[in-house]
Amino acid sequence: MFRRVFIGVGSNIGNRRAYYQKALDLMADLPQTSIVRGSSLYESEPIGEAKNWYVNGVVELETGLSPQQLLSRLQKIELALGRKRTALTKKWASRIIDLDILLFDTHIMNEEQLKIPHPEMHRRRFVLLPLSELAPQFAHPLLGSTVTELLADLADDKQVLRLPSNG
Ligand code: ADP
Ligand code: MG
Repeated sequence: MFRRVFIGVGSNIGNRRAYYQKALDLMADLPQTSIVRGSSLYESEPIGEAKNWYVNGVVELETGLSPQQLLSRLQKIELALGRKRTALTKKWASRIIDLDILLFDTHIMNEEQLKIPHPEMHRRRFVLLPLSELAPQFAHPLLGSTVTELLADLADDKQVLRLPSNG
């Protein structure tokens, strides 16, 4: 059975757009998986100690993989692109690429290794803005509000700027 899944993609080191595109190419190659659509790209102010702005976006996939299988495949892509994942890596540290499962259809999971919906997604403009291009009426499985409603109620004052598509 194929599920509708939304992946949050972010990069704030090096050639951010190139890493973003490479991650998309590798996701398109995953078994039982196809890319339905990608959002526009956005540039967003970093949170935490990181100084570099992010390139962010959201990608819609259709997949027959389970949530755990998909997470493990996404982590392999992060590593293949050169992301260092060590015990010393700080939360919000700069990264070549970050691939988060935002929504997996209407699934709800709350395991240490995998929480769906992503626990921060409804608080982040850099997630909701691109997601609103793809699925404005999608209801958050725990909160019930649509993406459009979450965006309207958002307190996040970090800047998120849409990048020109050819720039
Ligand atoms: P960040 O929270 O900044 O994205 P990481 O990408 O290093 O940090 O992820 C830390 C851990 O978050 C991963 O080891 C993964 O198991 C866990 N995790 C929990 N829920 C999710 C999710 N929905 N998508 C991706 N990773 C998740
Ligand atoms: Mg992550």
